[in-house]
Amino acid sequence: MYYLTTKIEDINRVGVTTAKRLKLLNIKTIQDLLYHFPFRYEDYSQITDIKDVQIGTSVNIIGQIELIQKKRSPHKKMYIVEALILDSNDNKIKAIWFNQPFIVKNIKIGDTVSLTGKISQDYTGPILKSPNYEKIYNKQTSPQGITPIYHLTANLTQKQISYLIKQVIDTVNSIEDFLPENIQKSQNFLSLPETIKAIHRPKDFNELEKARKRLAFDELFLTQLQSQIIKKDLKSNTSHSITFSEKETKKFVKSLPFKLTDDQKKSAWVILKDLEKSKPMSRLLEGDVGSGKTITSVIATLNVALNGYQSVIMVPTEILAIQHYESISKDLKDFNIEIGLFTRNKKIYNQQSTTKKKITEAIKNGAVDIIIGTHALIQETINFKNLALAIIDEQHRFGVEQRKTLINKSDNKNITPHLLSMTATPIPRSLALVIYGDLDISIIKEMPKNRKPIITNAVKENKRKEAYDFIRKEIKNGQQAFVVCPLIDESEKLEAKSVKEVFERLKKVFPSLKIAILHGKLKAKEKEKTMDDFLKNKINILVSTSVIEVGIDIPNSTIMLIEDADRFGLAQLHQFRGRVGRGKHQSYCFLFSDNNSEKVRERLSALEKYNNGLDLAKIDLKQRGPGEVYGINQKGFPEFKMANIFDHLLIKSAQDEAINLLKLNPNLENLPILKKRLDNWNKNIHLE
Ligand code: ADP
Ligand code: MG
Repeated sequence: MYYLTTKIEDINRVGVTTAKRLKLLNIKTIQDLLYHFPFRYEDYSQITDIKDVQIGTSVNIIGQIELIQKKRSPHKKMYIVEALILDSNDNKIKAIWFNQPFIVKNIKIGDTVSLTGKISQDYTGPILKSPNYEKIYNKQTSPQGITPIYHLTANLTQKQISYLIKQVIDTVNSIEDFLPENIQKSQNFLSLPETIKAIHRPKDFNELEKARKRLAFDELFLTQLQSQIIKKDLKSNTSHSITFSEKETKKFVKSLPFKLTDDQKKSAWVILKDLEKSKPMSRLLEGDVGSGKTITSVIATLNVALNGYQSVIMVPTEILAIQHYESISKDLKDFNIEIGLFTRNKKIYNQQSTTKKKITEAIKNGAVDIIIGTHALIQETINFKNLALAIIDEQHRFGVEQRKTLINKSDNKNITPHLLSMTATPIPRSLALVIYGDLDISIIKEMPKNRKPIITNAVKENKRKEAYDFIRKEIKNGQQAFVVCPLIDESEKLEAKSVKEVFERLKKVFPSLKIAILHGKLKAKEKEKTMDDFLKNKINILVSTSVIEVGIDIPNSTIMLIEDADRFGLAQLHQFRGRVGRGKHQSYCFLFSDNNSEKVRERLSALEKYNNGLDLAKIDLKQRGPGEVYGINQKGFPEFKMANIFDHLLIKSAQDEAINLLKLNPNLENLPILKKRLDNWNKNIHLE
């Protein structure tokens, strides 16, 4: 008998090794297993004739095994199983499996099988590579209909996961449904147990669609409930009212080396208006990468400091915190404002490195006006003297709970700080209003005037030398380059480029240039030194992992070269690219990839064509195509695994249902299961 809480190793036929592998997928209990949803499905309900197979398509072939044999590959020590399948029209196709020698024990000459998989090609013509197989006893029907495809780790197979799920599927019946019945009815949903069952083992596409819709709705509904509750809580709170210092603000704006764009001015104005009120501001500042959100928020911190109150700025990475510390210190150097830095590894007060104790003290007694830091700010016991403004940069990297914790840092429990969240996640205003129900929205649409669109090229491997020559020329002219790789170290498992390997190679290609590496595992001191040297142009080429993805601002760099670009999502590539093109010089982005599949080529050419985050987000969704679950790679919305952030209708109905429910049941007091689910929901929103 299985329960939701049954440990994975207690399931029949799960040994220590399998359990370990499952744990790599965060699957520890049956419940976890049931919530490990397929990320796409293949339709094998139609049977293809062997004569009709087409390269690159997924097929289900039914036929008789005419030949099956196991052999060793000539070079590598690997087992290969080859089989020849004959269908009822006397057409044949070859199937081949790697490292699964046991298959010859499972299927024998003369067996009728259903083979599902993608058709590829070798020198003999079309073949099936590593298809799923199922023996057929009754020739009329195919046992492989709509087949779920799961995310795997090394050494787990789709078959294993499906088999496990099949064993435990009946435990779904003990899953408590948190969605009130009237909502289920009005939305015409399946119950939660039915939904989970259908997502793993759909009878047909109709049922699958229904299940997906329910799961997508659940995510949106919980998010809505969450933000409506926060909004309601905030309404009754009080905050410090900040007087607008017109003269000083003008002086500051004048001191900048550029003119603010109209959108920056408008947003700053609206923020200053909000700050004047004694009700807490809750505002999201949205603007594409490089649109100049930082300076807009600095105007707010300046006014807060001039009023004698404190501001805090929280960012997702240490590198970004240090960079903000330096640039904001420079921006505000003409004002008598104390700026501090607080990350796990580094603290600065009074422009010097200091101890945790000293800076905590300085924050507490009000000596620091603006404190910039990472998650460390909310993990440590920091108390403010009079916090009036909390700013969260790259807010999509933080969960709702973290936002809340930061706001609760206020010294005086009767006072809530104003909140400004900033993000480059591109979503249309109408949707932002719904998704972030608790936030008011300002959008910076316009890019600074001096910007030239970045020229993006997907570069073929045989043109690599030309790309390097180009980089050499740019650097000779005084510019700098980023090179981004997916890994830090070389890896045996993943065939992707690593920072260390590329660094070694570039040293040979550019023996006279200064090249450095950057990644998350370096010590804070080393990171800081490297970023500082790069900023001062003491380094020509910076080879980095994705740590430079968000926020980093080096206006003198004009080249972004990305290795194995197919390993990153479109939104992420767009963020990387946003690291260049921040100054007046023409900038370039070079994308390398060994993967020549059509899909990858399409994605890279979308980047060549579009420079705007919103356009790319739409293409990203379109390219995933029908049958794939939307949210999985929706960067910036970790809470949405199933929901599509462009699904206006569903978002609207989730919002309506949430608002209605709260009207009748403001504190969810009669809905304990829902309340529990919402608490868990808040806790689980991810932490980087
Ligand atoms: P993001 O919105 O991505 O956070 P940043 O605030 O880092 O962008 O700004 C990107 C770069 O543009 C910075 O170097 C900043 O100094 C510069 N910048 C900001 N506003 C303007 C402007 N109005 N004109 C020219 N450059 C600007
Ligand atoms: Mg930024």
